[in-house]
Amino acid sequence: MSARILVVDDVAANVKLLEARLSAEYFEVLTANGGPEALNIVSREKIDVILLDVMMPGMDGFEVCRRLKADPNTQHIPVVMVTALDLPSDKVEGLEAGADDFLTKPVDEVALMTRVKNLARLKVLTDEMIVRYSSGEQVGLQESLSELAGKVGNSGRILLVDDNERAAKRIKDSLQRHFSTFIEPSSEQAFHKLNDAEFDLVIISLHLQESDGLRLCSQIRSTDQTRHLPIIMMVGEGDNARLLKGLDLGVNDYCIKPIDRNELVARVRTQISRKRFTDQLRTRLEQSVEMAITDPLTGLYNRRYMEKHMSMFVDESLATGSNLSLLIIDIDNFKSVNDQHGHDTGDMVLEQFATRLRRNVRGIDLVCRLGGEEFVVLMPETAKNDACIVAERLRNAIAANPFSMGRTQGSLDVTASIGVTTLEREDDRPQTLLKRADQALYTAKRDGRNRVVTEAA
Ligand code: GH3
Ligand code: MG
Ligand code: MG
Repeated sequence: MSARILVVDDVAANVKLLEARLSAEYFEVLTANGGPEALNIVSREKIDVILLDVMMPGMDGFEVCRRLKADPNTQHIPVVMVTALDLPSDKVEGLEAGADDFLTKPVDEVALMTRVKNLARLKVLTDEMIVRYSSGEQVGLQESLSELAGKVGNSGRILLVDDNERAAKRIKDSLQRHFSTFIEPSSEQAFHKLNDAEFDLVIISLHLQESDGLRLCSQIRSTDQTRHLPIIMMVGEGDNARLLKGLDLGVNDYCIKPIDRNELVARVRTQISRKRFTDQLRTRLEQSVEMAITDPLTGLYNRRYMEKHMSMFVDESLATGSNLSLLIIDIDNFKSVNDQHGHDTGDMVLEQFATRLRRNVRGIDLVCRLGGEEFVVLMPETAKNDACIVAERLRNAIAANPFSMGRTQGSLDVTASIGVTTLEREDDRPQTLLKRADQALYTAKRDGRNRVVTEAA
């Protein structure tokens, strides 16, 4: 990941040290020797994470952070406060200024990489959300991104796996302002709970008496249901071997005992924001894929999808010599449904029509709405005779029972005409099949509607 990191410190040696370490991990590093220069760079350059020294002459780190977080153009950039002393009061002030995380000097290698990577990933996701939210398509999503960003990490359900009752209670208290925390002493029970209920994050102590916290981390990562769940682990000071093992297993972040409650809150917030953003992006992606291939009114595949898949079906059937049949189905006198009962009723009929089609074909058949009141069913492994039987079944499924027009308006008789064709010539293409089926359909209309006609031999 080549994220751009801005390192801000008034002491040149500190800047050089962080720059060297980050560059070694292939981050792109920019540097500033004080607050004003940092603000200047941020206004010109795209920055993904800022490492900000607290003690600087003139404008201190808190002030720089406050300004960054007050400006809508820069408030999404994650800020890590780098404090010389491990003072709780610094962390409180940092959190109030809007800091996203903390590092204590001298900066520990693992801590530096874990925090920077976490925040850089969060930034990538935030950027992605900004693009989507501002893409104009999302009408109705008026909520501005900054509001969203401020909200996403500030609530959530956390499972805390710790068998030290007093320590667990303390952590729960630190988180209770924003989060609902559930304490579970047994890692086995915890695993069940995570699979049974929706959680946003799990915090796991690596000092359980009865069981192995690392094993739980590994189980969580290897189970589908919990694969994406953020994990923060709590490790003892100096327990580097297990810390590294955990990070290897895919644990997202860690806190060193004794737990600093402000740090923990900041890290929990970062992880939950990341999860919310990823979840939303995933859902949006699924929705946009779905929108691209389905017709919104009936939920059937749309014409574009059908055309694309039809070429594949045709090629394959020609290559393997297997059967392929196609139906074109057109609702009879549909215009008069609209004219007499209104367009909304027409839409209801289309929806029910689609449902009847879907229920009367096999799972491997492709049902799509070609447009208007015209539908296509593509049937692999189906010879002409069988296709006619299916067509007749469909015709009957439409005509046999009236369609509902809603609670107050009663019901309506609907019929459809169907043209049937089968792949049979070497040079058959999707367009030739559609054309032949269309001719058969035309004959069905001409001969009185509510009937199935097979292409002329
Ligand atoms: P035929 O039996 O010859 O097929 O007659 P028809 O009235 O069904 O055919 P025509 O092509 O004359 O009219 C189709 C009608 O379908 C016209 C159009 O308003 C209506 N229609 C097309 N798409 C929709 C839709 O999404 N919703 C509704 N309610 N009506 C639609
Ligand atoms: Mg300084
Ligand atoms: Mg029609």
